[in-house]
Amino acid sequence: MTLIDLAIALKVAPAKVEKVLKRRFGKLHTEDRLTEEQVAFAQRSLGRAAPRPATAPPPRAPAAHPEPAPAAPPRPSPAVTPRPPEPALPAAASPEPGPVEPAGLARHFERRYEGVRAELTTTREALAAAERERDALAQQVERLRTAALTPPPPDPSPPSPPRTPLSSILDRVGFDAARHGEVLAAALAHRPVARRLLPLLGVEDAEAVARILTEGVRRICVAAECREMAEADRVARVVARPAATCAYCAGSDNGRAYAAMSRACAAAKVRRVVVVGGGDDSRADLRRRALDWPAPEVVLVEGKRRPDSARARAKVQGADLVVLWGSTIVSHAETDVWKAAAEAAGTPVITVGSGQKGVASLARGITEWVGRYSRAE
Ligand SMILES: [Zn+2]
Repeated sequence: MTLIDLAIALKVAPAKVEKVLKRRFGKLHTEDRLTEEQVAFAQRSLGRAAPRPATAPPPRAPAAHPEPAPAAPPRPSPAVTPRPPEPALPAAASPEPGPVEPAGLARHFERRYEGVRAELTTTREALAAAERERDALAQQVERLRTAALTPPPPDPSPPSPPRTPLSSILDRVGFDAARHGEVLAAALAHRPVARRLLPLLGVEDAEAVARILTEGVRRICVAAECREMAEADRVARVVARPAATCAYCAGSDNGRAYAAMSRACAAAKVRRVVVVGGGDDSRADLRRRALDWPAPEVVLVEGKRRPDSARARAKVQGADLVVLWGSTIVSHAETDVWKAAAEAAGTPVITVGSGQKGVASLARGITEWVGRYSRAE
């Protein structure tokens, strides 16, 4: 039971109950729980629950602990924290014991309510601040935990074993620097030695070595034309097995002749060639081979029907050579139209492969013309 509860039960102002108890037990707060002794004392003092007897109370037996006089100074109560003074009770809280006016009590509790609400606001603000601090600490803990769990970065420069150039090994085993290549070539060409040696050889820059091998070594078939092209390109040769892996001809006569023609045109700056005629299969083969070699640009004209002169002139425009491919396919009338267009444009015209309609004969005819044309320049 609190002081307020007791005041309501006794139908007196809480201030009056407080005053009585304060005198006897020291300062109290209205919300503190009262001891039985305090309740009994208040009831006795205010004469409500225990009506004051008409006669004098019976003499009390000498008590071991006599009650202190009501005027005794109030004992300090350490449990009670200092608080702002309670709002004064209304006038009903007169020194005389008596019922309290309801309006006075209402005002009293309204003021108390305001006070408690202000305290609630303050407490909520303090709680919010504490929560913010707690969250910041949790983040800090998480950061420390992550840092503790993250393995340290690896040593940025792990020690690499000392590098030994192949040339210094060749020196050590007694071969002249001038013959290092020859010695290595012999060793690697000898299969049992190569098998033991190759797995021990490592390189520092794999990309660079791959580039040198790609550019510097080619698979070449046994055809004389392919060997000549490899020699002209100054590349190391390995025998193409099978011949279809030959870097120049892919194992076919048509391919070999086209490769030689392409190189001859590139060297002589023959960039654009108009080819009129040719059988369907041969034209398809020519189209495929033209994709593999960058030079020259080949413009194919079917040549089965007579073109008008304007179309022929437009085709010939910008060409370095016009080739009439297969005299049995391109008619005389058509030949005349193309020859006239080429003459008007100042472009040379040749006829190749009368009777032979394959790409090889066309390519060799062009190569031959390029040779003559270059010499004439
Ligand atoms: Zn070849």
